[in-house]
Amino acid sequence: MENNINSSYIKFWGVRGSNPTPDKDKMYYGGDTSCIEIRTKNNNLIILDMGSGIRNLGKKIISDKSYNNEINIILSHYHWDHIMGFFYFAPLYNEKYTINIYGYNKNTSINDLSNHLINKEFWPVENSMYKANINFFEMEESSSELKSMDINDTKICYSSHPHPGGANSIRVTCDDKKIVYVTDCEHTDGNLNQSVLNIAKECDILIHDSHYTVGDLPGYKGWGHSSWKQSTDIAIVSRIKKLVLFHYSPDYSDEKIKEIEANAQKKFINTLASNQELLIEL
Ligand SMILES: [Zn+2]
Ligand SMILES: [Zn+2]
Repeated sequence: MENNINSSYIKFWGVRGSNPTPDKDKMYYGGDTSCIEIRTKNNNLIILDMGSGIRNLGKKIISDKSYNNEINIILSHYHWDHIMGFFYFAPLYNEKYTINIYGYNKNTSINDLSNHLINKEFWPVENSMYKANINFFEMEESSSELKSMDINDTKICYSSHPHPGGANSIRVTCDDKKIVYVTDCEHTDGNLNQSVLNIAKECDILIHDSHYTVGDLPGYKGWGHSSWKQSTDIAIVSRIKKLVLFHYSPDYSDEKIKEIEANAQKKFINTLASNQELLIEL
């Protein structure tokens, strides 16, 4: 890797759940769907999910010469809000980039996913128009046990958690800091999921699905999401350092999310509600 950067960081490019929300009352937290950039001091670029937020990240990568030409994307799962940004990711159309996309789903192979994505019936791009070197990698089968892999010098661990069709919690160890990403997670019958507690244990930063308020959650059983309160419960039980709320209901306004953040801080003081463009230096 070339071009070491001054300090590693996490940047949030999309924090909205389910669908983009370009609504006036949702501009502060933002309307783009799941996409998080993690960049290590050694300039290793790891992107978690490619929701619509990846569109602006792609423009940044193209215009900022400090980025390397290798881009690594890990998918939590293959629901639309986590993959829809693929088509608008500018580096795909530039031959200078190598783009590695990693994922595992028990029902759909990563090859099947790539065939859907690169099907010009659904999006008018011929295969030959994708200029980057694009590789899809099937991760080893995920389960409640922790699996691990390395991307360059960055250690990645993952395990599965409950969501319709399944999804993976992902832990990235970035310059000795442990960042854990748990989105689209339904803690069954109100019990905190044990594999989430395990992967989050004593991490530095936990980014957790906070789709619903406590009052709204019971009305959406089986929809695959958590309340902000379950995020703070995981934070307390797993003794993490900093909690970042993520993947808000597309129905929630900025005002409502501010209220959620204040309530969450009463339970776990070191809580922050992520907004689009939030930058956390590590
Ligand atoms: Zn989602
Ligand atoms: Zn989902």
